[in-house]
Amino acid sequence: MRQTSEEEVAQTISRGFPEAVLRVVEADKKKSYQIVLGSEILVEIDDEKVKMNFPTMGSGTMHWRGILEGTPETVGEMILRNLANAGFKVFSRRGIPIKKAPVRITTSTICPSCKERGTIKEILYGLPDEQYDREKYVIGGCCLDPEGNDPEIQCTSCEWQGDFEEVRFSRKGRE
Ligand SMILES: [Zn+2]
Repeated sequence: MRQTSEEEVAQTISRGFPEAVLRVVEADKKKSYQIVLGSEILVEIDDEKVKMNFPTMGSGTMHWRGILEGTPETVGEMILRNLANAGFKVFSRRGIPIKKAPVRITTSTICPSCKERGTIKEILYGLPDEQYDREKYVIGGCCLDPEGNDPEIQCTSCEWQGDFEEVRFSRKGRE
């Protein structure tokens, strides 16, 4: 039973990730599965867990007993979305490229420079409304770079500036 689920998860990932190779590893009469790109083992699936060896929001390891609902296919699709967020070219069941999820700035987002938590704010350009949310935004001024290279976010502690993408995986609890 278990074996089948793991294989289904692996096959769902493999189907949505044409650049990668699905490798089956047999040891002690147990099969485990690896999603391999080049020489990198990106995903490891065995009878206990799924391990994602690429940047993710959480720890990157999911134990089967911690997964309370969802079919092997929905688990596989969730891993595909994680791969998409990390910048890999993956596709939905219908063959449509899966896009990165938008980066959300939260109170647990940490600054890439000073490592403070909850200090990253979105920069508002132009003339903001008097009522703008000071918890979420800082004022960036009204002189925009004609090349469109203005930073999107700023740390209110160390003045670091950058783009949303730079804090996608920077959460407290991860290095
Ligand atoms: Zn900072």
